[in-house]
Amino acid sequence: MDMPAEDLDFFRIVRHHFDRAIPFVHPLKGWRGMAELLFEPERIIKVSLPVVLDDGFVHNFLGYRVLHDKVRGPGKGGIRFHPDVDENEIKALAALMTWKCALTGIPFGGAKGGVKCDTKTLSENEKRRITRRFTAALGDNLGPNTDIPAPDLYTDSQTMAWVYDTYAMMHPGQNNLPVVTGKPLDLGGSPGRETATAQGLFYVFERLLSIGALPDLPDLADMDVAIQGFGNVGRNAARVFNDAGARIVAVSDSRGGVWDPHGLELTQVESHKEKTGSVVEMPSTRPLDHREVLTVRCDVLIPAALQTQITTANAEQIDARVVIEAANGPITPEADDVLCDRSIPVVPDILSAAGGVVVSYFEWVQNLANEQWTETEVHDRLRNTMNRSTDAIVTTWTVLLDQLNDYQEAWSEAKPDAAALPSPTLRTAAHVLAVRRCRRATEQRGIWP
Ligand code: NAD
Repeated sequence: MDMPAEDLDFFRIVRHHFDRAIPFVHPLKGWRGMAELLFEPERIIKVSLPVVLDDGFVHNFLGYRVLHDKVRGPGKGGIRFHPDVDENEIKALAALMTWKCALTGIPFGGAKGGVKCDTKTLSENEKRRITRRFTAALGDNLGPNTDIPAPDLYTDSQTMAWVYDTYAMMHPGQNNLPVVTGKPLDLGGSPGRETATAQGLFYVFERLLSIGALPDLPDLADMDVAIQGFGNVGRNAARVFNDAGARIVAVSDSRGGVWDPHGLELTQVESHKEKTGSVVEMPSTRPLDHREVLTVRCDVLIPAALQTQITTANAEQIDARVVIEAANGPITPEADDVLCDRSIPVVPDILSAAGGVVVSYFEWVQNLANEQWTETEVHDRLRNTMNRSTDAIVTTWTVLLDQLNDYQEAWSEAKPDAAALPSPTLRTAAHVLAVRRCRRATEQRGIWP
């Protein structure tokens, strides 16, 4: 009999991780209603965006913006341009943003946006018109104190400059810089924002190593790293790990990958990508398809492209000692369980990919104060925040493991028919910490009216 295909619905996956945290978010009394309140998005906007393309034809694009939760502050989250964008995907990503902000202690809630389009077929002018139309359509649903976008998949600082410009045209005579982050440096952007997600990931990795929360890994000089995705996050992660002494043995982008077990010459890969638009066919390397990069032998595997890349179809073939999530949701829950059974630790996205939103918060603060900090200052603050967040998760994890029997007892009392609790992972601990913080803020504010 054929096995049922794995359900790759991203919203289902995000809910699964949330549900695994619930038994550890005490007290459980009254939890059911609270769970729905904390999990369901507060607002979903779907807009139709008619845009005249360069060939003179009108194309109707679909755009989404989801405000997941604003109990801890205004909504914060990127805008992605991708052909697979749909409502469920944006809802899932918005929820992850809520947990990321709560986890790192920055005073934002979660939001996300996206336009269903393929940037590979669009000119610069067409992208500009889509961005402006999307920003105008969202109107006052965006705002420096309500919902603040940033770059994500296939959007960048130029896209954010157009968001800012459009919003500023609609709101003349005020400081509009804090309405969007990830802007160019000359337009209120923060030093260090471009590399923040990768840098933050590296700080988390260093911290976990230093407190002994990862298995024995070789020194950085002997460490092999494989990375899926060679965009903002993947390329910068390769750079940060390489600068720290690690060997980058494989990288990939949407067209395929390249592998050299002795270590890729990163500068050459970067210039090959600049020249040809892809890492594929880089001389003196072995070709890989874009999923094969996930199964090469390495110490550290960093998925930095799309969601649901490591599934039950390839989890058994992962040949890494640790997986650090840079993309949002790259591993399905079922694959997570396989990796856990195989003793391959996973550093969860809501911690390891939170550096971008942390520096976005720094940019917002600089914009409000009309300041520009130095890159060193930004990095120091980022390192402090990532260290603090990592420590808090590891402490939570230790307590959950120590008190698993007590949690199990309370859970069985509340749900006599429920299965035994699976042993909590770092991901469970990260969710528990984030959801507890959101719950506390909700209860302290009270449910209106
Ligand atoms: P990007 O558009 O700069 O780069 C995306 C990369 O993924 C490109 O190299 C692209 O070629 C590659 N890619 C696309 N489809 C692929 C496929 N099927 N297989 C392999 N590679 C593929 O985007 P980014 O900003 O680097 O974002 C990458 C991931 O990181 C996304 O999941 C995003 O949500 C997440 N993320 C981004 C940020 C940020 O600050 N930009 C922050 C946190 C998380």
